[in-house]
Amino acid sequence: MLGFERNFAISGKSRLLGAGAPPVSPQQSSSSSSSSSNLLFSASLPLERVIVCVDMDAFFASVEQQCAHGALDDKPVMVCGDTERRSVVAAANYIAREYGVRAGTPITTARRLCPHGVFLTGDPEKYVYTCIRINDLCREFTPRVECFSIDESFLDISGSAHLFGGPVETARRLKARIREELGIPCTAGIGPNKLLAKTASKLGKPDGLFTLSHADVPTKLHPLPITKLYGIGARTAEKLARIGVATIGQLARTPPDTLKRLFGIIGPMMHDAANGLDSSPLLTEDEQPEAKSVGNSYTLSDDTRDVRKVLTVLLGLCSKVGRRLRKGGHAGRTVTLTLRYANFQTLVRARTVEAPLNLDRDIFAAACALLDEVWHKSRAVRLLGVSVSNLLHRDDPRQLPLFGHARRQRLRQFLASVDALRDRYGESVAIWAPLLRSDEAI
Ligand SMILES: [Mg+2]
Repeated sequence: MLGFERNFAISGKSRLLGAGAPPVSPQQSSSSSSSSSNLLFSASLPLERVIVCVDMDAFFASVEQQCAHGALDDKPVMVCGDTERRSVVAAANYIAREYGVRAGTPITTARRLCPHGVFLTGDPEKYVYTCIRINDLCREFTPRVECFSIDESFLDISGSAHLFGGPVETARRLKARIREELGIPCTAGIGPNKLLAKTASKLGKPDGLFTLSHADVPTKLHPLPITKLYGIGARTAEKLARIGVATIGQLARTPPDTLKRLFGIIGPMMHDAANGLDSSPLLTEDEQPEAKSVGNSYTLSDDTRDVRKVLTVLLGLCSKVGRRLRKGGHAGRTVTLTLRYANFQTLVRARTVEAPLNLDRDIFAAACALLDEVWHKSRAVRLLGVSVSNLLHRDDPRQLPLFGHARRQRLRQFLASVDALRDRYGESVAIWAPLLRSDEAI
């Protein structure tokens, strides 16, 4: 019950490693469970949550291998944003990883490390479709499923595991369903919270099934290097190394106050995580907090000083952001432009307008005005980003503009028709004319 209460109690942007409520220690959990279970509950309704993290192995590469019907199974496969342009590897299968290629490796480096590898341009629509199918399969085992990212979902099987023969058998059956329906491998991690379930899935990779309970924390979690803890990146690990913390166990024994001094509010959270404590809620689709902003960014294939090229990319980005806003039923009042120069200096400019906007043209006009403020023709641009925040949902009351309403309404209807066409035939069915001539794949 504690678990269910916590599921609904906390909202906001906290994902793993960062919920607002204080974590319940295993001691607290077990003491409340023993007192309550005498009165009301049986073992079939556990007080401690049972969470499964199902994480696809080298997801994009696995989907491509499945589509190739075995022709790629013995080859190093790397999926990239665009194999011809400056981009990074989005997924590398386990054969490619033997050559040192990882997700995030620049393509040029990957080609040097693994010259005979198969480089494929990613097909996002195919991966999104597979992700939807995976989550449908997860819901065969519990209605409480959180799609955490495109290749990773959490299931709360606290109330349903007994129907399938217990937590391990549930996870084993789910893995088998995904393999049989979609032909791709995944790893399942089981734990009493999302953090331990996620860590268990990391430890079980690839194609594994691994459990981490609170009792396992000292023996299985604490000896691991600190980078194995979810949320600890290379920079944090470096900072921890300076105070002599190299393993998760050492972090668990570091006083929270010391960590607070070093890392601020995140310090005590890191301490809890190292002790296997995590109270972040599992949120199904209906329980997800509303988006706070919608944005897209793009790294140009070559640094450029060509203003027309920059404007074309900007139009593409605004069109994407507008499309996403309209799809979610949102409009926003603040437009933010991010401009990164070739030397990585990054400028961010924002402007707030009176009426909330979600039409491509309006976002583009605001973004152009911001670009005008920062544009310097002698400086080459590397990356552009556009986002819209200060969001209102279509159901929220709002003031209609006094002038130009009929014209705006026609534009709105036109874009609604274009959006309907895109929903049916794909995003490329209608794009703004300048983008047709662009050699950038925005
Ligand atoms: Mg994965």
